[in-house]
Amino acid sequence: MQLRVPGPTPCPDDVLQSMTRQMVDHRGAEFMDLAQRVTRKLKGIFQTQGDILTLTASGTGGLEAAVVNTLSPGDKVLSVSCGVFGDRFATVAEKYGAEVVRLRFEWGKAADPDQVHRMLQSHMDIKAVLVTHNETSTGVTNDLAPICRMVKEFDKLLLVDAVSSLGAIDLPTDEWSCDVVISASQKGWMAPPGLAMVSVSQRAWEAERSATMPRFYFDLNKAKAFLDKGQTPWTPAVPLFYALDVALDGMNVEGLPNIFARHSRIASMTREGVKRFGLSLFADEDYASNVVTAVKTPEGMNVKELRKLLKEEHGIVLAGGQQKLSGHIFRIAHLGLVNEADMEQVLTGLSLALPKLGFSPDKTL
Ligand SMILES: *Cc1c(COP(=O)(O)O)cnc(C)c1O
Repeated sequence: MQLRVPGPTPCPDDVLQSMTRQMVDHRGAEFMDLAQRVTRKLKGIFQTQGDILTLTASGTGGLEAAVVNTLSPGDKVLSVSCGVFGDRFATVAEKYGAEVVRLRFEWGKAADPDQVHRMLQSHMDIKAVLVTHNETSTGVTNDLAPICRMVKEFDKLLLVDAVSSLGAIDLPTDEWSCDVVISASQKGWMAPPGLAMVSVSQRAWEAERSATMPRFYFDLNKAKAFLDKGQTPWTPAVPLFYALDVALDGMNVEGLPNIFARHSRIASMTREGVKRFGLSLFADEDYASNVVTAVKTPEGMNVKELRKLLKEEHGIVLAGGQQKLSGHIFRIAHLGLVNEADMEQVLTGLSLALPKLGFSPDKTL
């Protein structure tokens, strides 16, 4: 089976095997070692000396933790969004009472740092900026470095949704002064869904001290106090910690530069492959993501049928489009555990399935 959706992503065998181990006491010595070891390894991938807290939650829980631990109701925040996940981050802040100024970019395009600059200039009372590194719904990776520089120039808090990018696309948390960075185990980490990893800078801890949004399960201060003794405030998903521990070893063996290069290589191969069939990419190619490729549905083709055919006849599972993109695009994820041979199979499957649904390059698009 080629599971090529942008999470959950496939897990290596040793990661899967690790979860067959017996449980341990999450208030005992084994879990203490495990939690501290996982945290140490996570810091390497996040490229941070700051704190990292691992929460039993999906990525959205991590986004919620970032918001409620640093903001107060009534705080003005700038949301920089170019898709479903950017909008979701903004909605979380809004639900908890933040006054959200939404800077929206056309889906398929990247955020324009100049417009972010203008917004920061014209809204001096903005406290924090919410931004998505890789917008999974459109297959766009934002040019994050200049946005980070700008946010810091204006001395604002910077919260980054890196759920689908961390561990696959370079994001030096400390060097780019990101205050809170959120990721999740089922994306680039080659681990199953269920853990959200959240980095917290000194600046974010200062914000935390005066933040008054309600929080209980996702109280990061509490999580930090428990992590200091090798625990979590609430019962953690113990098998997922086993899995992440092994997955991180695999990542360290390959090494970050090699991981980034592999994603970049396979993404180019995917883009070139679909273009060779006569299909069009949905994302602005200058910002096309290295972890997921969004492809425009050929005129008259039913995406559901295409996905069904690929799955039933070729064992290939692709994602459709979300919200208003449903039916208009399909997405090929190349995130985490993926190599050239995998993508060769996907492209071959596509080349066989497309004509069966009446697609011939010359008469479409
Ligand atoms: C997957 C994803 C999320 C979180 O989704 P969950 O289903 O809650 O894990 C958030 N942001 C981005 C960019 C994502 O790709």
